[in-house]
This record gives sequence, C-alpha cells and structure tokens, in this order.
Amino acid sequence: MTSSHQLTANFDNELSFSQFLENFQNSVKRAFHEIDNIDVFSGTRGFPQAVLDEIKSANPFSLVIPKKYGGFGANVKQNIAMISAASYESLALSLTLGINNALFVQPFSKYGQESFKQKVFDRFVKNHALGGLMITEPEFGSDALNMQTSVTLKENKYHFEGKKHWQGLTGMADFWLLTGRRKSENGNLMRDIEMFVSDNSVPNQKIVVEEYFQNLGLYQIPYGLNKLDVLLPEDQRLIPHSTGVKMMLDLLHRSRFQFPAMGLGFIKRLLDEAIEHTKTRLVGGKTLLTYDQVQQRLSRMQANFTICSAFCHKSSQVADIENDLSPLGLEANMIKSITSDMMQESAQNLLQLVGAKGYKLNNIAGSAVVDSRPFQIFEGSNDILYQQITESVIKTMKGIKEFNLSKFIKDFTPRAFDFVKKMLDFDVNIQMSQRNSVIFGQLISRIYAIELVSQLKVKTFNNDLADNSIELLNFDVTTLLSQYNSNNSTKVIIDYQENSYWYDK
Ligand SMILES: Cc1cc2nc3c(=O)[nH]c(=O)nc-3n(C[C@H](O)[C@H](O)[C@H](O)COP(=O)(O)OP(=O)(O)OC[C@H]3O[C@@H](n4cnc5c(N)ncnc54)[C@H](O)[C@@H]3O)c2cc1C
Repeated sequence: MTSSHQLTANFDNELSFSQFLENFQNSVKRAFHEIDNIDVFSGTRGFPQAVLDEIKSANPFSLVIPKKYGGFGANVKQNIAMISAASYESLALSLTLGINNALFVQPFSKYGQESFKQKVFDRFVKNHALGGLMITEPEFGSDALNMQTSVTLKENKYHFEGKKHWQGLTGMADFWLLTGRRKSENGNLMRDIEMFVSDNSVPNQKIVVEEYFQNLGLYQIPYGLNKLDVLLPEDQRLIPHSTGVKMMLDLLHRSRFQFPAMGLGFIKRLLDEAIEHTKTRLVGGKTLLTYDQVQQRLSRMQANFTICSAFCHKSSQVADIENDLSPLGLEANMIKSITSDMMQESAQNLLQLVGAKGYKLNNIAGSAVVDSRPFQIFEGSNDILYQQITESVIKTMKGIKEFNLSKFIKDFTPRAFDFVKKMLDFDVNIQMSQRNSVIFGQLISRIYAIELVSQLKVKTFNNDLADNSIELLNFDVTTLLSQYNSNNSTKVIIDYQENSYWYDK
C-alpha cells in the first residue's frame, strides 16, 4: 500500500488522485468486509475503533485540506469521487466524510483566519482530527435563522451560549463550527449569523454533551443534545465576505451540491444488490428479473443512478470553494431534494424486491430505508426546499415577465425543452397553494434533471442509460403535472372522532 505521505507529495495530477482513490477503496473494503462484517448487525453504535483506524490510514479526512496546510488539496470533483466510493460500502461513513469535508473543512478553509488554520489543520493531518457543524437548536430547526444561541463579547473573548441538537459526530468531533447571533447591548439578538470554530481540547471551549440520542438509523454516527457555554478568541471567528447569512448559504449550498456524492455510491450499491438478487431468486419457476413489474423497479433504480451521476458531474463543475454559491440556491436545492428522494425511493424498491429477508436488521435493504430517510429532512426539509424552488422560479418569471411554462423552460433548461415543451404550454398561476407549490417545485426539479442528464449524455455517457432515465423523468413530469392540475385542498378534520367509529354503523 502506498503511504499517505508519498501521496501528499505527489497529489498534483489525476494519476496520484486515482492512486489515492484506489488506496481508499481498498481500505474501506478491508474495514467493512474483513475487520467488521457489515452483514452481521451487532446493534452497537459508533464505528468500531479498528474500522476507524483502517479508514483513517488512507487519510480521507485530509482530502480537501489545502496543500499549504499539509492536506491533499483536492477539489470538489475529487471529493465527490471519494465520498461516492465510501457510500458504496457504508452510507454512514460517507455522511461522516460529508460532514467533515463539506460542513467543516471547506467552509473553514474559505472563511477561517490564517493564524488559526495551520493549528487546526495540523491536527487533522497529523492526528486525524474531525470536525462538525452546529446549526440546529431544539426550538429552531427549519427556522434556523431565528436561532437563539447568543454571542457576546466579554474581555476580548466571544461567549457562545445556547443549546444545539442533532449534530452529526456529537461527542466525537474534535472541532466544531458553531453558529449563533450577536447580542446587542440592549440584550436583543442581531439578525446576522456569526460563525466560530471551537476546539474541544481547550478548556472553556469544550462542548458538553447533555444527552446521546438513540437514532433510528445511521448507527455509526453519534447524535445528541449539546450545551454551548464556551469562550472563543477573535482569531477563531470565520470572516464573511459580505454577511454571515450569505456565508452560511454558501456553505449550505456547497454541501447540498455534494449530496449526489453520498447518493451515487449508495444507489449503485442498492442497484447491484437488486440485480444480483433478482437474477437468482426464483418465484413461480422464473427468476424475478423476468417479471415486468420487477423490471420497472430495477429500471427506476438504474435511472436514479444515472440522474445522480449527472448531478455529480454538474456539481463538480460549479461547486469549488472559490465560487460563491450563495446565489445558487435554486440549483443546490433541486439537486439536494431529488438526490435524497431518489435515495429513499431506491431503498424502498430494493426492500420490496428482496421481500421478507430484507426486513431483517442485518440486511442492507431494510437498513438502507432508515439510513437514507433523514436525507430528506436534514440540511433543508424537502417539503420546504421544493416550495423555495417554486418561489425562486416564479420570481424569475416575474422578472422576465414570462409566465408560459414552456417558453420559460426554453431558456432555463434548453435541452429538456424538446422533451416537455408540449405538455408545459400553459400559463402558471403564480397564486398557488403551498401544497401546489411543492408539486410545482418537484416538477421543475425533474425538468432540471432531464437537462443535466442530457448534458451528460453529450459527454459520451452511456446513451442507453441516459435515454432510459429521460423516459422515466418524462413519466414523472406527466404524473406531477396531473397532480398539479387536480386542485386538491382537503384540510384535516381535527375532531375526527365524532361519528367516525365503523362498528356503530
Ligand atoms: C440524521 C440527522 C442528521 C442531522 N445532522 C445535523 C448536523 O450535522 N448539524 C445540525 O446542525 N443539524 C443536523 N440535523 C438537524 C436537521 O438539520 C433538522 O432536523 C432540520 O433542519 C429540521 O428541523 P427540525 O427537526 O427541528 O424540524 P421542524 O423545523 O420542526 O420541521 C419538521 C417538519 O415540518 C414541516 N415544516 C417545517 N416548516 C415548514 C413550512 N414552513 N412549511 C411547510 N412545512 C414545514 C416539514 O415537513 C419539516 O420536515 C440532523 C438531523 C437528522 C435527523
């Protein structure tokens, strides 16, 4: 095995990266197939130490650390390739890498102060330190901008006070990117967001874990309730290029652009499992593979693989850290929400195809369902993101005074236009209900997916795969359009117990 030191010295070209990737893939395979047999569910939480040691031997947590601080200096394309390789073996591992690389290292590299960066990255490179991000509070999740964690300047130090929960790597990360709001002299919290890095090894900076959660899936990642009562020096503050909110959006959008990295390896693994299973399982004297409905599920999973590949390709072109992604909410939100929907859909398809065996705790099909579900909730709940996608499109429509969807699509997604122009030839009613705006957001996102798959297709990507996925996306657009036009406005009946017991009838 090539040592990580040699790789650091040589990491200037694609060859050395492919060497790194191969080394990492071998390490992950050893970790999950030899050291820890992933097919045997032990019920233990956290990564076994031997697994973590094996994975760390390839230095994946230093991948995106800039070269001048001793890291590999990898770009977003390379990070996506590595995280995707990890998610083929373990979604929890790929999320751990995603948290460390996208939610800590990338924003800290971009906005951290020079005097502190060397110290922090030294610990990553030499001691395999890990970082995480704290945004969510018990009372403020989706409504994160109203967070109550306060930041007060006290004798040249910033006092962070508050509670945060559901942070990936709770109690395990060495460094945390903390978010809060500056308290003004009259005691009110200011609107803008402050970000600081805390170092758990320093007295007065340690984050206290008040409770560990029994998370439903992703067993290897610790989550919990954290108490923040820390004093941080000025050089641990992240310096925004304009406002703190824009800095946080740049961070979140870059992370959303990298969701397909976690999605791709995961979906590919599920697809491989599904093909293998249906090739060998006999039902009614025939292999499952020969049934049409089974083909439908498999081709869905395969389309998800293709769409995710197209997203990875797009993200690798736009999401490098030099770029300001704060204005790219529309693209980032579409990519994140479809990716997480496809992960969950693929897991549900595999579980259906595997049948009862998949419902055992030690089968990947069942665990894939619970492990992938929170991707639709964290970093922006999909229900909210789809609505925001619609708001953004309608704002643009108003700006250019073009409400005919077909005409709008012609500029927005020119390659997808040919596929969907006829069915979208209507004026959008911009006064839509929230539920309709969610459907409309899903619709626009699928059109965008057609666009990105078409762009990948011209790069000589497997045409059969591209054509199949475009056909299925067209089917989705048709279905969503009919939902959009069906004008459902049902409301829950809160006192539903009244006159509703079938037995009395
Ligand atoms: C596995 C996992 C990992 C996580 N990792 C991290 C992490 O590393 N760091 C971190 O800081 N946080 C993390 N989180 C927290 C996550 O970001 C929040 O759970 C998320 O932002 C949603 O907040 P909430 O749970 O308080 O839900 P709420 O804000 O209460 O929302 C719950 C649901 O209500 C609905 N809803 C909310 N608002 C609206 C609206 N305006 N319109 C329509 N519907 C709405 C949506 O369906 C939403 O899913 C993680 C969570 C999970 C489950």
